[in-house]
Amino acid sequence: MATELTFSEEISNLLYAAEGNPINTCIQCGTCAGTCPAVEFMDHTPRVLIGMIGANLKDEVLNSNTFWSCSSCYHCTVRCPAGIDITGLMYALKRYSMWKEQYQEDLIGPEFSESFVKMIMRTGRSFEPVLAPTYVTKYGTRGMIEEARTASALFLKGRLPMLPKKIKGIENLRQMVKRIIPVGGPS
Ligand code: SF4
Ligand code: SF4
Repeated sequence: MATELTFSEEISNLLYAAEGNPINTCIQCGTCAGTCPAVEFMDHTPRVLIGMIGANLKDEVLNSNTFWSCSSCYHCTVRCPAGIDITGLMYALKRYSMWKEQYQEDLIGPEFSESFVKMIMRTGRSFEPVLAPTYVTKYGTRGMIEEARTASALFLKGRLPMLPKKIKGIENLRQMVKRIIPVGGPS
């Protein structure tokens, strides 16, 4: 009979083929938390989050905004004395969270990620007019006006096309994306 993996083992497996040491080699030194420029926006510091994964606090981890607040700057990864790819862990948690459909409500990240993947699956390119509605309403009236101004300026300079263009070999790209991401697909 197959043994059910713990949450910590599932996350470790997601990082198995990645560079860096396993997360259970974390010595809880706090270097990642001290170096992270986004830590003030996070519910838990990277150090605490790794401790929570080790303690199998699955719901608490998935309901944290920490990995959605990560800006992928890699500061923590290059400074971690244990050689853990913390940035890769943040990406892995985003994918896992989307896969399990469990994340904090009212975050921009999950909806944005889903729209982005679907758009890439359709055309192979990012297309701002499709992505913008997933986050622009969260900016408030002033923010929306600013976004509209920027979009108009880009459009007038020919930097914002009316319609997305499909890349060559889109089917190959779709096959690759389907192998790594359990969400998306043309809809
Ligand atoms: S810097 Fe590395 S070893 Fe230190 S707490 Fe963060 S993950 Fe753990
Ligand atoms: S990669 Fe993410 S978690 Fe690491 S320091 Fe940068 S913002 Fe913080």
